[in-house]
Formats: sequence, structure tokens, C-alpha cells
Amino acid sequence: MQGMMMNRPLAVIDLLTYAAEAHPGAGLVSVRCEGDIHRETYAEALARSAQLAHALAALGVKRGDRVATLAWNGYRHFELYYAISGMGAVCHTINPRLSAEQMLYIIGHAGDSVLFFDLTFVPLIEALAEHLPKGLRLVVMTDREHMPQTGLDLLCYEELLAGQPERFAWPELPEDSAAALCYTSGTTGHPKGALYSHRSTVLHAFSIAVSLPKSLNEGARVLPVVPMFHVNSWGLPYAGPMVGASLIMPGGKLDGASVWELMETENVTASWGVPTVWLGLTAEIAKRGRAPHALTQAVIGGSAAPRSMIENFEKMGVDVCHAWGMTEMSPVGTHGQLSASMSDLSFEQRMKLKSKQGRRVFGVDLKIVAEDGTALPHDGKAAGELFVRGNTVVSGYFNNPEATRAALDDDGWFGTGDVATIDPHGFLSIQDRTKDLIKSGGEWISSIDLENLAMAHPKVANCAVIAVAHPKWDERPLLVVVPRGEDRPTLEEIHALMEGHMAKWQLPDDMVFVEALPLTATGKVSKLTLRQTFADYVLPDVR
Ligand code: ADP
Repeated sequence: MQGMMMNRPLAVIDLLTYAAEAHPGAGLVSVRCEGDIHRETYAEALARSAQLAHALAALGVKRGDRVATLAWNGYRHFELYYAISGMGAVCHTINPRLSAEQMLYIIGHAGDSVLFFDLTFVPLIEALAEHLPKGLRLVVMTDREHMPQTGLDLLCYEELLAGQPERFAWPELPEDSAAALCYTSGTTGHPKGALYSHRSTVLHAFSIAVSLPKSLNEGARVLPVVPMFHVNSWGLPYAGPMVGASLIMPGGKLDGASVWELMETENVTASWGVPTVWLGLTAEIAKRGRAPHALTQAVIGGSAAPRSMIENFEKMGVDVCHAWGMTEMSPVGTHGQLSASMSDLSFEQRMKLKSKQGRRVFGVDLKIVAEDGTALPHDGKAAGELFVRGNTVVSGYFNNPEATRAALDDDGWFGTGDVATIDPHGFLSIQDRTKDLIKSGGEWISSIDLENLAMAHPKVANCAVIAVAHPKWDERPLLVVVPRGEDRPTLEEIHALMEGHMAKWQLPDDMVFVEALPLTATGKVSKLTLRQTFADYVLPDVR
């Protein structure tokens, strides 16, 4: 029997139209590239998003078109999120840390028609200009006064908005139409696009709002350290307006001292980010002897949060919630919020639990499987590859049938490439990674791409790149080389081969020589054995 309830499509713009009406006191505080602080309410952000939508329409943007952004966390980027998806186009956030080659690839692959960028990225756009697709319109996210002097044909954000009506007839869209696009690294080859729908985006906002009430509540002041170009700031620009939390946008200033100051003066109650950024903040907290006065929660994810970091925050009275997720999961999959029944645990027991990646959010199912595909028990001991399923998980990659085929198992679950245990209370613990990637400061480096480039050196007979631990960046690449003869390549020669293809920060930190690479039973290079062999390797900048 059919239920008899209305079926209204879920729409991203409704998060903002709701906030404008229901949370009049809440809004955005942004550190601008121009150097000052900007404030606007959600009602003002809605009016400006309407103006922007008119401007986009005037530029010829139509439903389904991709509009790209290359920008820090700030109010104009937020307005782009809502204007683009609200009018039925797709907001494609580009990660400025990608190499020029990767950036050009994704702009072409996405088929972007307009690119909006912050003042910071003017030199980058100038350098890329001659390789950008013909017809791509370029808009600088600033006012006339700050427009850069270049030979490029650039439009000005504030000029586009000026004089446009402050209301827009937001179209009613099927809820499964695309709203946002974010590329993630492939283990090899090109980045792959996760294409979020209006439905998945709104459901993800619900799921994080319900799972993380300490961060997301009416009147909260949340500072997304995690960039808006990195999986939509983990959903904060959507969940914040939904619950009536204000967003404190730090722009490009992410060093410990700047973040501490901003948190202190803006009464920030919660902040979300990757461990590398938290290292800077914890050092600043240690220097000043206290956490910013209103800070009650730090959400740490993207890489494993070290136990010492969790303890440091907790001892300063800041609750730590360790979260795990992926670009392909919108991204939050699990969170480490302890349940009320766990409040009488000892400090030691709580730290142990908080070091794990936490429990699944509502709507995401987890399974761990053995190599032959059989499901493993959730006993906290059996480790297997982690698969996920849910309304906020990708069903494939944008315009990439090959990667789509490889992503899902026979039952339609998505393979995360992480190896994990799950305990009887549902706490996930990430143990290892099957995907051949290195995660440095929250960003990916493909070991296979580095290996392919190094193999082009005539003195390299064979090689492998593995992750080794680094106190600041979490992981850094180490190149292990089997030399062809007595004459050995230098690291500088190898770097020279890689430059231009990879971003500078992605190049290996060091190189070691071995007689042969260890092999698995099936004859592949055993990265596991290599990682174990070099587990205690100390990189040059840490010695
Ligand atoms: P994000 O960095 O936003 O979480 P990515 O798609 O770039 O999304 O990276 C996802 C991967 O990062 C996961 O598959 C896992 O390997 C790793 N990861 C994310 N969070 C954690 C965590 N808390 N602990 C360990 N690894 C993590």
C-alpha cells in the first residue's frame, strides 16, 4: 500500500531560504583576501545569491552547466554554492593544491563554462591562461577597486552583482539532479569526479546535524578550517544554515596564530579540520596556555588524529570528535561523539575510544570483508576492507564508466580502499589502506604516478613509492629504487623528471636504494612489506 504524503523534492537552496527566515541572527563572518573582515546574515547571503544567479543567467549559464570555483572559505564562495546549485547548475570546486596538469584536466573533464577565483589565485590563472579552454569566462571574486591589472579578459564579481534583483525564481528541480562536483585523486591516472545531488546534499546536512549536535546547533559559531574546495567543507556550508549556526570563514590564513586569534575574537564554539592544521593550533594553545575561550569542540578527520593531539585538546577542555569519511561519501561516514552512557568512562578509556574513527552516521551502512569477499564479524578484531552504502555515497564517478565499474562490488557497495575493524559497539578503527595513495596534510599523492615518472630515469631499474610517517604532514612519500648499475640517480634528477607533472609538494622527500623489491605471492610489489621495512625511517627534515 502506498503512503499518502506529499513528495517535495529536496533542494539545496531551501537550506538558505529557510535560514534567512528562521535564523535571522545567524550568518557569515569572513576574513577577506582584501585584508578586512566581512559580515553578512543568511538573509543578506540569500539576496546576494539571487543577484548572482541573475548574473550567471546573463552570462548564459543554464541548467546542468558546470561553474567552477577556485577559492578559499568566504562569503562569496558560499554565495556561489547557493546561486549555482539554486539555479540548477553544478558548482565545481577546484582544489588549488593540484598540479597545473591535474587542474587543467579537471576543468576540461568537467566542461566548466565559467571559473570564479579569489585574488590569491590571479598569478595561477595567468600561468594557466593559454591552456584554458577557449570560451571559459573568468571572474575575479572581488570589487572594482581591487581588480588586478592583467592582460586577461576578466570579469569582476561585485560588478556582476550590482543592480541585479535581490530575488530569483528558484526553479523546482528533480531532487536527484546534480548540485555540486568535487574531484578526488585516483590511485593512478586522472582525478575522478564525485557528483553530489540536491537530495544527497540535503540528506548529508541532516545526518551531520543529527550526529554532531555539539558543533551544529542554533547560535553556534563554527569555523570550517577544512576548505570549501575539499568536499564542500565536509558539509558545513549546508548544515550551518540549516541549524542556525554561523560560519566563521578564515580565508587563506590557516596558521595556528591566525586561527587562534580569529577563534578568540569571533567567539568560535566549534571547528572542523585535518590533523596538520590542528598541529599549528595546538602549538599556539600551548604557547598561550589556553584554548580560545568559547571553543568547545574540535572535529578532526581526513587523516587519523594522533592520540597526543586528542589528549592535548581534551586537557584544555575542548571535546574532540574524530571523524572518518571520503569525498565519495559527501564526506562524513563516521563520528566519534561518545554516547551519554559512556560519560562515566575513565579518561584513559575515553581517549582509547576517541582514537578510533567512531560510529556510523545515520543512513550509512558499513561492512568489512575478507579478501574472498566474505563479510567479517564486527568483533573489534577481524580486519577487512571497508565497504559502505547509503544515500550520501556515490553510485559512480562523473563521466568515467571505467572507474565507476571498479568502485562498486556485486551487491552495489562502494569499496573505500581502507582496511578497518569494527567493534561490537560499532566503533570503526582504520588499520591500513589498500589504495596506493599517500595522504600528506590532508591531500593525496599518487604513489603510482610518482613511480611511473621515476621509472623514466635511465639509471632506475625498478622502484616503488611508499608513505612514511611525518610529524607535521602525517605521511610523506619515500622513493625506494633498485638502481640499474653502479651509477646511481640523484634525487634532484628524479625531481626534475617529475616537475610539471606533479605539484611541488607531491615530490618524494627522500630516496633509498635496495637490491630488489619484495614481491607478493602473485608477483606484485609488496608495499606492505616495504612499509614494514621502512616503518622507522626518519625523513631528512625530521632528523
Ligand atoms: P576527506 O579527506 O575529506 O576525508 P578524501 O576522499 O580526500 O576525503 O579522503 C578519504 C580517505 O582519507 C579515507 O578513505 C581514509 O583513507 C582517509 N581518512 C579520512 N579520515 C580519516 C581518519 N579519521 N582516520 C584515518 N584515515 C582517514
